[in-house]
Amino acid sequence: MANICEPPDDLEAYDSYVEQMRKDEYPMLKDALYLDHAGTTPYSKRLMDRFHTDMMANLFGNPHSASPSSQRSTLEIENVRMQLLHLFKADPEHFDLVFTSNATAAIKLVMEAFREQEGGFWYGYHVDSHTSVVGVRECAEQHRCFESDEEVEVWLDNESEEAANGTFLLAYPAQSNMNGRRLPLEWCKRVRGPRQRRAYILLDAAAHASTTPLDLSDAAAAADFTALSLTKIFGFPDLGALIVRKDTAHLFQKRRYFGGGTVDMVVCVKEQWHAKKSGPLHEQLEDGTLPIHSIVALRSALQTHRELFGALDQVSRHTAALAKQLYTGLVSLRHANDTHVCAIYTSGESSYGDSTIQGPIVAFTLRDRRGNWVSNTEVEKLASIKDVHLRTGGVCNPGGVAQMLDLAPWEMRENFSAGHRCGGENDILNGKPTGVIRVSLGAMSTRSDVAHFLAFVDEFFVDKTLHSPQSMCLSPLRSLSQRFHVESLTVFPVKSCARWQIPHGVPWEIRGEGLAWDREWCIVHQGTGKALSQKQHPRMALIRPDLDFKAGVLRISMPGTSEQIAVPLSADPTPFDEDAFSQRDATVCGDPISARLYTSLAIANFLSSAIGVTCTLARFPFASGNFSSTRHSKAHLPQAKSTLGTTTHRPILLSNESPILTISRSSLNRLNEQIKSQGGRAAHPSVFRANIVLAESSLLPPGHEQPWAEDEWEGMRIGGDDGPVLEFLGGCRRCQMVCIDQVSGEKNQEPFLTLAKTRRFGGRVLFGVHTALVAEKGGRRMIRSGDVVETVARSNE
Ligand SMILES: *Cc1c(COP(=O)(O)O)cnc(C)c1O
Repeated sequence: MANICEPPDDLEAYDSYVEQMRKDEYPMLKDALYLDHAGTTPYSKRLMDRFHTDMMANLFGNPHSASPSSQRSTLEIENVRMQLLHLFKADPEHFDLVFTSNATAAIKLVMEAFREQEGGFWYGYHVDSHTSVVGVRECAEQHRCFESDEEVEVWLDNESEEAANGTFLLAYPAQSNMNGRRLPLEWCKRVRGPRQRRAYILLDAAAHASTTPLDLSDAAAAADFTALSLTKIFGFPDLGALIVRKDTAHLFQKRRYFGGGTVDMVVCVKEQWHAKKSGPLHEQLEDGTLPIHSIVALRSALQTHRELFGALDQVSRHTAALAKQLYTGLVSLRHANDTHVCAIYTSGESSYGDSTIQGPIVAFTLRDRRGNWVSNTEVEKLASIKDVHLRTGGVCNPGGVAQMLDLAPWEMRENFSAGHRCGGENDILNGKPTGVIRVSLGAMSTRSDVAHFLAFVDEFFVDKTLHSPQSMCLSPLRSLSQRFHVESLTVFPVKSCARWQIPHGVPWEIRGEGLAWDREWCIVHQGTGKALSQKQHPRMALIRPDLDFKAGVLRISMPGTSEQIAVPLSADPTPFDEDAFSQRDATVCGDPISARLYTSLAIANFLSSAIGVTCTLARFPFASGNFSSTRHSKAHLPQAKSTLGTTTHRPILLSNESPILTISRSSLNRLNEQIKSQGGRAAHPSVFRANIVLAESSLLPPGHEQPWAEDEWEGMRIGGDDGPVLEFLGGCRRCQMVCIDQVSGEKNQEPFLTLAKTRRFGGRVLFGVHTALVAEKGGRRMIRSGDVVETVARSNE
């Protein structure tokens, strides 16, 4: 083992010590800014090495038999059980510890015991509870959500009417996993007043214990049941535990189920009876084979944690200081017009710095300089590009989040039915955020992490200009006829795969659902039936579809392999091959479609090995007539409001896919100038995955281009008087997918970073415009590159 130096006591020295130590011990944190310790915390190199050595040196058998390997396991498990009780200063005379797979399983164990009580049980839970604690209510006879600490106090103080008969369980978190608030621990003692011995307390310490010692040394003041996540303390192994007061053992006697390990004798033949284990409580509750190796790993975890971080109250002081630094930093961020950037969700006045009432978590949302909410999805996209790991949304704390964001039940229902598709883009509904941004710190966090995060928020979300940096209205409102032409046309025959450039000058059919042959196929995960997307599988950018009209096939190849596959272009090859397809339900962006999957094994094998997941090719069901295709682009779209006076059902998607996507070369040039001025690499047009690229005349003198003119356009006609008319449906909202190099499949930071700084409108980062054919206008339905483009500017108001 590496030389062990004691973690110093002084706060500043402790921080530098952690900064230094984690270079060796947490190599996975080298480039990442990890701020999701309330989700889980990383494990150290020393822990993994020690565990490995232990596994290689010893033979561990299934416990409870006579072999030496079995005895070793039994001994080891019982030792670890004692060490853990010791960590929480829980006297084995009063407490037992049951191993579970996670904290949720520990909570369920308590629920299962109460469910079997005579007449069921009454359940009360605090509004700040984790989802796993809230769920217990579904098994209770009656339940109540305490919406404030005061309500709990009143309940504890009064002989509650509800307490007339039956058994009572009160559950609350020692620390909210949403904003880190710590709730009073003395409630545990108060429930045990003489009147109320039929009332018990379940303390959810899963969030609390990860950075703070929990002291059960005063058994009379401790909760009856304490649920823990060992994963959140040590990072590894993946285990939970329930610490139980032994005087509650009778509650578990009514448990009906038994499993291997929890009975002494079972009779099945002719008679049916069994004898439950009567030994220690954990023997009655640990069904089946224990996770032996995980429990053994705890020994290494306990030792390593102590060596690396010292006592738990050192960790507590360190993380409390960091949380205060984070809170103070976020509060002080202001836009140039002096408005606050962060709305921070604390209960009452700030408690940061006082670790008895506040843990190292900050929950907040951001506002722009006009006071509008910034979409959390936008924050997540930038964080993901910058390798910042945080959590957004409801963070498994339904009551706390609804209370902090002031969401009424009807609003939550409405948000639910409004649907969160393609990664929940619509996270601001009715002018309110529907989730929070949660930053949580852990033992190996440092001051530099906090500073780094504050700099991230400052760089992207603090508006430093006093005036509107760029207005959507800059071009004169008149027809900009004929300055633009179609530079190129592109289709994506297989959704999310490489583009196929339509040869220059070749006339191409345009339809209501897009350019002919665009997104005619998709690749579907064979297990889940979900259409795969490049966002999760950047390698899809390398899959090259090729439309071969001479041979009548779509060929699919992949650079670096000589293999390729081909399928007929004909939409219905069944007359030729009965078994080409199997029908199955699939989803695209969360919406059900009935896709036709190719049954060929060769196709599935080729795509599965290209992408690295089990998948195959599917064809969208055929179009029956020009405007009633059930293809993806029409399958799940709300109707767009038409401003051109038409009321046709317009196929526009929720996500960044619409019938047709148009971008302007002039805008791209401007964007690239900005990227290059910051030392970044210019973006290739292909990353925007546009169907139509518009360009201005190359004869224009420099500086006369009209970048962002498309923001002001209502529509365009392509190819002169008789040409098709297209309508602009709004800007295309961008995500980090524009950072995937479409040739190499590699991820970059640009152009999203610069887009996020220069093209953010109302919390959306826009580039390119969603476009659709106006059915009634224009006779021809063909366009080609080189065609002139006449644009119609939006009429004023
Ligand atoms: C994480 C957490 C849980 C759930 O823990 P699992 O181990 O994921 O089951 C429950 N309560 C709180 C407060 C938590 O932070």
